[in-house]
Amino acid sequence: MADSQHGRLIVLCGPAGVGKGTVLGRVREQHPEIWLSVSATTRQPRPGEVNGVNYFFMTEPEFLAKEKAGEFLETADVFGLAHYGTPVKPVVEHLERNIPVVLEIDLQGARTVKRRAKELGLEVLTVFIEPPSFEELKRRLIGRGTETPQQQAKRLETAKVELAAAPEFDKRIVNNVVDEAADELWHIIAEEFGL
Ligand code: 5GP
Repeated sequence: MADSQHGRLIVLCGPAGVGKGTVLGRVREQHPEIWLSVSATTRQPRPGEVNGVNYFFMTEPEFLAKEKAGEFLETADVFGLAHYGTPVKPVVEHLERNIPVVLEIDLQGARTVKRRAKELGLEVLTVFIEPPSFEELKRRLIGRGTETPQQQAKRLETAKVELAAAPEFDKRIVNNVVDEAADELWHIIAEEFGL
């Protein structure tokens, strides 16, 4: 544990298509006490995504107004296609109650959180989920079938950059078998929060 008060904020990162959401979902099935931060975004909802659950979907002017008002811990322009941001207040409130908080954000976001953590009095543990290989990542990303070929190409380009940043992270998990990756992630969280 970081201190006697509460565990560190868990920042979970990894290239699009690596299965971060699946791994985290598996952990939360077993441990629903983990609180997953809900980000704001200006991108369109995918089929099945629910406002307030997967994201707070909003227009660009709404997003920019909240950003100006200081409501986000970090924001990022992901793939140059949409804005994403982490609302700061619920993160701090949950951590103060020693509830494990996980942010599932991109590399820019992880770097911003690390940089801003001190000024906000937060301690951060960064975790990177990586694919068994780049070929496997490509297969998973294309197999998901939710993006246009142009979006896929952009995501693969971003994925290459993100994979190169893996050594910056405190912990790394290879998502080969989902249950095993989920187990590793749970152990990291449990150790951090004394669970
Ligand atoms: P997607 O559009 O596939 O849901 O997410 C695209 C990328 O945006 C993922 O890498 C995801 O981790 C990242 N992302 C989601 N929410 C946030 C956020 O609040 N801040 C940042 N920086 N990245 C985010």
